Amino acid sequence: MSACGCSGGALRPIDEALDELMQHVPLPPAVEHVPLEKALGRTLAEPTYAAFDMPAWDNSAMDGYALRAADVPAEGGWLPLDGRIAAGDAAQAALPPGRAVRIFTGAPLPPGADSVVPQEQVTLEGEGVRLPAVEIGANVRRQGEEFAAGSCMLAAGIRLRPQEIGLLASLGIAEVAVHRPLRVGLLSSGNELREPGQALAAGQIYNANRYSLGGVLRSLGMEVHDYGILVDELAASRDALSLAASEWDVLITSGGVSVGEEDHLKQAVRELGELHLWRLAIQPGKPLAFGEVCGKPWIGLPGNPAAALITALVVARPFLLRAQGRIRVMPQPLRLAADFHWRQGNPRRQYLRARLKTEAGETRVTLHPRQGSAMLAPACWADGLAVIDCGRTLEEGELVDFLPFSELLE
Ligand code: AMP
Ligand code: MG
Repeated sequence: MSACGCSGGALRPIDEALDELMQHVPLPPAVEHVPLEKALGRTLAEPTYAAFDMPAWDNSAMDGYALRAADVPAEGGWLPLDGRIAAGDAAQAALPPGRAVRIFTGAPLPPGADSVVPQEQVTLEGEGVRLPAVEIGANVRRQGEEFAAGSCMLAAGIRLRPQEIGLLASLGIAEVAVHRPLRVGLLSSGNELREPGQALAAGQIYNANRYSLGGVLRSLGMEVHDYGILVDELAASRDALSLAASEWDVLITSGGVSVGEEDHLKQAVRELGELHLWRLAIQPGKPLAFGEVCGKPWIGLPGNPAAALITALVVARPFLLRAQGRIRVMPQPLRLAADFHWRQGNPRRQYLRARLKTEAGETRVTLHPRQGSAMLAPACWADGLAVIDCGRTLEEGELVDFLPFSELLE
């Protein structure tokens, strides 16, 4: 058998195919600078360092009274009040010994004060406050306790979530260097396909993959250029693929890659570049093609809609994310008890449409009864994919890997 699996024979383990795929990842897209409000979901292109300590100065974590802990006896005591510091006030003169100062959350602690007593624990009495004993450092946010100036806060290649955007803002950064979105050309192959909204003649079906795969790519933050339906004709396939390759970073097609099928898409790819046709040890989605068209990477996903969706999430996604410049590209499966048994080991790794079910405090993975590779309805029912490795059998209650769609779509 040839290494690419073109001649049939043994199925290629998916991890091995992924390793090979990753060796062909192109350089990430150019870097651009965007304002913070446009940075959500983008891939950070440069590491971010803290220009100052966080917090930048000691400050109060509570509305209350700042003082020296040593000034309050163990049984509590009374201290005269000496002024008031609110959030936004500049640092004050030192607090004289034996006194307390009214202070609010986020306000700078005056020199000399080392603790804050929350106002709920204090009674106002005359010109002062009666308070309980306090531990030194209580309710004080120390300068640099979160991180110190110069620390590397965010690594290049991460996806910017709301918390990262907030952190960048708290560091005073208004504009951020990100990779421009990966531009993916998407083509749906098949003479039988029509677009939703059109009338169907006998033998025709609606193009589902254009929308599901476009949805995957857009969920991953990529720019999709949709070339619509690719007719099963050599010249048209060649023209569409070479045009797409001249304009976009990566090409994705669906359909026309089944082993033994003599369609024009594969021939067009051979003529324009290089074709590897793999028979992957994965179900659904055995036939998967990969190669190069006019110097641009091309992934040929299977045509069956569930197989196209699942291989896009499991096989194409890590490749595309790495091409986008991301560092963490493999999903982290959850390990949860199976609510089903799997008695027949299968030579292909199973990615089964599954749902989470919590009963009596335990979350289990339950399968949709229909797992056909054409069926999208079970994928709509599912929360994610249960993964059962080649040859593995499973009894109810044993742990199984579960990949939530929520993780696979970001
Ligand atoms: P193929 O890999 O081209 O032989 O396609 C396998 C199966 O998937 C066939 O039943 C096709 O009609 C179907 N199929 C291919 N592309 C699409 C698509 N874009 N939307 C829905 N079904 C498709
Ligand atoms: Mg076809």
